[in-house]
Amino acid sequence: MNKVAMAIFAHADDVSSACGGTLAKWADEGWQVILVRATNDDKDSYNLPTKEETERVNTEEFLRAAEIIGASVVEDLGFVTDVLGDVSMVALRERIVYMFRKYKPYAVFTFDPYTPYEPNLDHVRVAQAVEEAYWVSNFHLHYPEHLEEGYQPHCVCERWYFARSPVDPNYAEDITDYFDRKVDALCAHDAQIRNTLHQLQLHLNTWGRRVPLIDEAILGDIRPLMERSLRDRCSEAAREFDLGEGRLAEVFRVNRFGAMERFVQEHSIPLPGEPEEMHTRACFDPDVALGLRN
Ligand SMILES: [Zn+2]
Repeated sequence: MNKVAMAIFAHADDVSSACGGTLAKWADEGWQVILVRATNDDKDSYNLPTKEETERVNTEEFLRAAEIIGASVVEDLGFVTDVLGDVSMVALRERIVYMFRKYKPYAVFTFDPYTPYEPNLDHVRVAQAVEEAYWVSNFHLHYPEHLEEGYQPHCVCERWYFARSPVDPNYAEDITDYFDRKVDALCAHDAQIRNTLHQLQLHLNTWGRRVPLIDEAILGDIRPLMERSLRDRCSEAAREFDLGEGRLAEVFRVNRFGAMERFVQEHSIPLPGEPEEMHTRACFDPDVALGLRN
């Protein structure tokens, strides 16, 4: 198998927040990690004077985070941020199919296309485009210009979905030893994190209250607050999956063969040169319907 993991996401800070620990762990285990950012993040700041400056700073910080995660390739699709809703789904999908055919990933990480309560349209569009690209990429009559460039149809084996409000998660990756790297990667997105905190400050302001910890973080060091918030989320995830006291995890809804999972596990044999044992990082128990429905 091709140990290539590709994360496709809308904005620079999405990946560190959702699966930075998992990707850092896989990179250390010898996986090639590829990060694909769909938009240019040209509006995600609260105190930078222009869109050009915001794009430049967020791109620099993205590259720093990619280095911390251990990604070996970074691809920018270059769509304008926060207006993916105006981009043709077919055009966005074509770029993702191209990434699949170019790098032949075994696993793709992205937003769950079926999760509710996702308010960011860029996230929704990327999720939907990846889900479609997953099968469109197999068809030689889709985008034959890729084949003329020398690429071949390719089918990603596993889809690792993350979500702001996960529904039916079926796997928790233990990232206890990689938690600090996750925090470092997220904090590398200084402009974006401060903007997120500023949004919260405005929200609180409308409510008529303030949180001194947030005010202090915006003016000073963001790390203690981010570390605390990530630790809460990752320890709750580890608890839900009984990983043990003090463990930290990132949760996913992993989908491989969907309803065909039982059939392929019972009847598959290894290809020449592949190990006898099936690759099962996540638990693909065919009796567990969660996440394996499509
Ligand atoms: Zn985002």
